[in-house]
Amino acid sequence: MADLLVRGARLLLAPIEEGDCLVRGGHIAALGQVPPSTIPPNCPVLDAAGRYLAPGFIDMHVHGGGGADFMDAKPEAIRTITAFHAAHGTTTLLAAIIPAPMDRMRQAMAAVAEVTEPGIAGLYLEGPFVSRAKKGAFNPRWLRSPSVRTFRKLVEGHQNLVKVVTFAPERPKADQLLANILAIGALPAIGHTAATYEQAMDALAHGARHFTHLGNAMSDLHHREPGAVGAALDSDAYVELICDGIHLHPAFVRLIAEVKGYERMCLITDAIAAAGLPDGEFALGDLPIFVHQGIARLSNGTLAGSTLTMNRAVKNFMKFTGCSLPEAVRCATLNPARLLGIDERKGSLGVGKDADLVIFDNDFNVHYTILDGKIVYARED
Ligand code: FE
Repeated sequence: MADLLVRGARLLLAPIEEGDCLVRGGHIAALGQVPPSTIPPNCPVLDAAGRYLAPGFIDMHVHGGGGADFMDAKPEAIRTITAFHAAHGTTTLLAAIIPAPMDRMRQAMAAVAEVTEPGIAGLYLEGPFVSRAKKGAFNPRWLRSPSVRTFRKLVEGHQNLVKVVTFAPERPKADQLLANILAIGALPAIGHTAATYEQAMDALAHGARHFTHLGNAMSDLHHREPGAVGAALDSDAYVELICDGIHLHPAFVRLIAEVKGYERMCLITDAIAAAGLPDGEFALGDLPIFVHQGIARLSNGTLAGSTLTMNRAVKNFMKFTGCSLPEAVRCATLNPARLLGIDERKGSLGVGKDADLVIFDNDFNVHYTILDGKIVYARED
């Protein structure tokens, strides 16, 4: 594996604020003052020129990008998606699988299992055991009632790869489903749900720890019925936020941050195939979607994923909340790493951690993305 020395960076989520970063064997070998004796001969040097060096972004919830979708179930599509998001600083993502006929869902899961892309940490099953009333852009035909038998069939052979499963706790037998999601070591996430506050709190008491795109496709905060949003605010669960300025009002994001603090929020893109492409007609699963000025909707106007990228998400989040750069970056790195249980290796800068890195400037333009110690994206300029 190639060595690399990054020189002169402002370091984020690191023990020190500036310096160099020596990468060896896919890991961070030294940080800050790198002793010349430890630098191998002919080590390639990358001048960060005072830009920021941060841990690579971890986007838990991605459907696609660059014209491809994980539901395409093709290795080229998967590589297109990871390359597109790497160009915006993402080094780890979860591949979102949406409700579809069982064989199509399993084909998409199998494709991710076979391709062994280093940037994919697993699968995010966004359903199918979710609420019809909160279906969002999903085709209601492919939603299912919670069933342990169906769940086992769905994940068979891929138990280790499934990291998150979105479910609606108010549906009958959701408690058994929740227990089975936990049994395969995945995170049960409350989402696409019409749950009351009590139903959502009960699911949290039984092991749910996360909310899928908070505020979108879930029961809202009402003063007599605080709903799923109220339960998210009134617990220490993690939440995902789509900070494109469209899915969530900036004031909502600011209020959530006030209540939850900066340790439980995860910035996601929820990006679809249209991310990175000009406006036009696309598909999410088998439903047509229309992208106008970067906003993706079904023909009835329902929002259908985003065209957001992680560098823009971090930039927007800082603008919406007024938080510091390290606070914003941790919501895109350390927080999801902790939630996913990969924080020993990823989500912060430190000696021995994976060399998954992003170099960006004051305006959040990504200049380099390094994955597993290798430069996977370099901006042309
Ligand atoms: Fe989604």
